[in-house]
Amino acid sequence: MLPFIIIGGGIAGASIGYHLAKAGHSVTVYDRFDQGQATSASAGIICPWVSQRRNKKWYRLVKEGASYYPDFIRELEKTTQQSTGYQRNGAICLFKDEHIQQLAYERISAKQIDSPEIGKVKKLTKQDVKTLHPHLTNLYPAVFVEGGAQINGESLLSALKKGILLYGGKWINKDKIPLKEAATIIYTAGAWSREFFEEPNVRHQKAELLHLELQAPTSKSETPIVMGLGPMYIVQTGDATFAIGTTHEDTDSFDITPLAEHQQYLHKEAERYFPENSIQDQRMAVGLRPFTRDNLPSIGYVKDNIYVVNGLGSSGLTAGPVIGREVAAQLTGKQTKLSLEDYQ
Ligand SMILES: Cc1cc2nc3c(=O)[nH]c(=O)nc-3n(C[C@H](O)[C@H](O)[C@H](O)COP(=O)(O)OP(=O)(O)OC[C@H]3O[C@@H](n4cnc5c(N)ncnc54)[C@H](O)[C@@H]3O)c2cc1C
Repeated sequence: MLPFIIIGGGIAGASIGYHLAKAGHSVTVYDRFDQGQATSASAGIICPWVSQRRNKKWYRLVKEGASYYPDFIRELEKTTQQSTGYQRNGAICLFKDEHIQQLAYERISAKQIDSPEIGKVKKLTKQDVKTLHPHLTNLYPAVFVEGGAQINGESLLSALKKGILLYGGKWINKDKIPLKEAATIIYTAGAWSREFFEEPNVRHQKAELLHLELQAPTSKSETPIVMGLGPMYIVQTGDATFAIGTTHEDTDSFDITPLAEHQQYLHKEAERYFPENSIQDQRMAVGLRPFTRDNLPSIGYVKDNIYVVNGLGSSGLTAGPVIGREVAAQLTGKQTKLSLEDYQ
């Protein structure tokens, strides 16, 4: 049994802690739940195959992350008897016109060969879109991706914490600085890593999501996630409630006050996608998303017994659980499936 101290209880720290504790190791997680924690603000979309990013190392990680999710959640929910909010209702990816729809259809379908978890991929007419998601605009054709899923970041963290405790680990809600200890220290501090590193390689973005309610005569629970035009996406959060986002603002500040102009912008976007409904803003969720210069996570030892996992970027909920599995394997001398050297 090896001893581990984890500093930071977002998706990175909690996933690593869960896998280590499950394997029988001694785990203590410290988390001070800073305002702006990325994991609980997140939209929780797991649908990496539709991205146009060409970075192969990133794609290997998120593809493996999406593939691991169903088994990981089944086991976590069974162990803890807690829901994580995981739903796999597919994704509707909207496009400006039929030409772009066709190109996207070909690009996404080509990924089915080495990513069977993507499920069926099919083109949707504007009318098909309306049938699948009655509130949505009928202005755009789409591609439907069966494997698209979503997770609730807060519920996932709560289940992981319970899992760590059930497997004999500890979770302490307080500040902790990485000092010399007779244990491996895993530093998963997200945007706050600069408190420890003089020159952190992780920066952060302030990202805002608008949570809203549709004043709709009928509501349909469990609609697919919507990947809108450009970087916009929509997830359902309740019977008639949705979240739309996000904004991206590179910053050095840790102020998480939402900006009025961002709320107005997201509200206008919501009106564009839900044109037949009256929209009531509920709240803005703001998170500080940690990222590195090459947009790949940073994973590995930095000195002595201090190991860092950070910079999970905009796909941290997708990659978090598989990173947890792989890091736990590496730190306990087991075979990893991914080459973690790619992210050092
Ligand atoms: C608005 C938004 C939407 C997103 N949508 C998606 C999405 O749809 N799909 C997806 O895959 N990803 C998404 N992401 C990205 C994802 O949320 C992040 O990549 C991920 O949550 C980062 O996790 P983390 O554990 O590294 O950091 P965090 O979740 O920020 O956790 C870091 C934790 O460390 C704690 N901490 C720091 N220093 C200390 C210390 N000294 N002592 C104790 N505790 C400390 C903090 O309090 C915090 O709780 C989104 C992010 C945001 C902000």
